[in-house]
Amino acid sequence: MLEPDVETRPWEEQLAVDDASYREQLAYLFERSDFYRLKLGAAGVGSAAEAGGLASIGLLPLTEKRELRETVTPDNPIGSHLCATRTEIVRIYSTSGTTGTPSYIPLTAVDLENWVKGSARSYAASGVVAGERIVSTYNAGPFVAGAALGALDRIGLCHIPVGTGNTERLVRAIELLQPEAAVLTPSYAAYLVEWTAARGIDLRGSSVVRVLVAGEPGGGEPAFRAKLEAGWGARVTEAMGIGDIGISLWGECEEQDGMHLGARGLVHPELIDPDAGTSLELADGASGELVLTHLAHRAAPLLRFRTRDHVEVRTSPCPCGRTGPRVRCIGRTDDMLIVRGVNVFPSAVREVVGGFAPRVSGNILVKPGSPGVKQDPPLPVAVELAPDVDADLALAEAIRERLRAVLVVQASVELVPWGGLGRSEYKSKLVERA
Ligand SMILES: [Zn+2]
Repeated sequence: MLEPDVETRPWEEQLAVDDASYREQLAYLFERSDFYRLKLGAAGVGSAAEAGGLASIGLLPLTEKRELRETVTPDNPIGSHLCATRTEIVRIYSTSGTTGTPSYIPLTAVDLENWVKGSARSYAASGVVAGERIVSTYNAGPFVAGAALGALDRIGLCHIPVGTGNTERLVRAIELLQPEAAVLTPSYAAYLVEWTAARGIDLRGSSVVRVLVAGEPGGGEPAFRAKLEAGWGARVTEAMGIGDIGISLWGECEEQDGMHLGARGLVHPELIDPDAGTSLELADGASGELVLTHLAHRAAPLLRFRTRDHVEVRTSPCPCGRTGPRVRCIGRTDDMLIVRGVNVFPSAVREVVGGFAPRVSGNILVKPGSPGVKQDPPLPVAVELAPDVDADLALAEAIRERLRAVLVVQASVELVPWGGLGRSEYKSKLVERA
C-alpha cells in the first residue's frame, strides 16, 4: 500500500475529513466558478454556507457534461466552470471526443499532483511494486491517460511505454525486457491473447504475472476476466477513471472484488438512480449511476458530475485492509438499451454469453433494430463462435434462454463463425446500429 495511513482510514473518518474539504471546495466555487454561482443560484443556493456539508450534497443539482459544453465560447474554449487563471494552469488535456466535439480539461500543478497521487494508489492496489517492470500500451498523447503514466513513476516502477497499434513491438518488448506487468485496455488484452495464439507465441509462459486493465468495462466481468487470465497466465485487475474528474480514480486489489477509491480525499462518490436522478445509499449490493464531486480541485472543479458509469457497490470489509466502498462498472449509460422496460447493458450480454465458453469466443455485437434507447423485443445479438465450432440451433437456443433468465431480455441470437466480429486494439464496440 502506498499510503497505509490514508488507505486504511475508517470510512466514517474519511467522510469527516472530506466534509471539511468539501465545504472549502464549495466556498472556492462560489468565489471563482461562474458556472456554479449561476447554477446553484438558480437552484436557490446563494452561498457555500447555505449549501451545507456532505450530508446535504444530495439536495444540490447534478452536473451533466452537456451543460459544461454549452458554456464554451470562442473566448473561453474550456467553459464557464474554469476557475483558474491562465498562469495557474500547467496542463490542458483533450477528451477523445467519443460523443461529440473534443472538450478541454485544464489542470493546475496541484491538480496534476493529486491526479498522479490518486492514480498511483489505484494502480498500486493491483500488487505491482517498486522495482518491477511494466509495459504500457496507451497512446496517451493529448489524452488524460497521459497523466496516468505519471502514476507508474510514482509507484517506482520501471516503465516501458510501447503504445497501441504495434503488437509485434509489444510482444518483442515483453519477450526481451521481461516485464512483470502490463497495462492496457481489456479489448487489447483479449486481442493479444488471440494474436499470440495464432502465431504460436506462449503468452501464458511470459514474464507478465499481472495485467492491469482500464479504459472500458470488462476487466471486472467474471467470464471476460477468466478468459484474459487463462490467456495471459496472469492475474487481471481493473482500474477506472473519468476524464473530467480524474484518471484511474478507482483500482482493484488482488482480491478482485471491486475497485477501491484510490482518489479518496480528492473525490467524493455518490450513487443515483439514473432515471429519477435521486440519491441512492452507497450500500452493499446497490447499483446505479456513479456521481463524483471534486474535493480539492482548482482548475475546473465539478460538483455532482454524472459519470454515465453504472456501478455495483460492495461495502464488505476487504481483506487487503483498504476501507470504503468498492465499485464494479457494469456498463455505460450511453450504451444502455431499454427492452420492454428492462435496462440492458451490452457488457452484461457479453458476460452472459461468455459463460458459454469454450464454445463461444466471447465476442458479441448487439444490433438494435430501431434508433434510440427503447427497443422492441427481440433484441438482435450476434454471438461469435470459438475456432472450429459449428453453429448449432441448440446452442443459439441455450444462449437465448440464458439471456432471458439472467437479464430478463428477449433476444434473437445469431451465431457467427470465428473471426466474424471485429477486434479492437483499443476499445471494443459492443453495439452496432443499422
Ligand atoms: Zn482490497
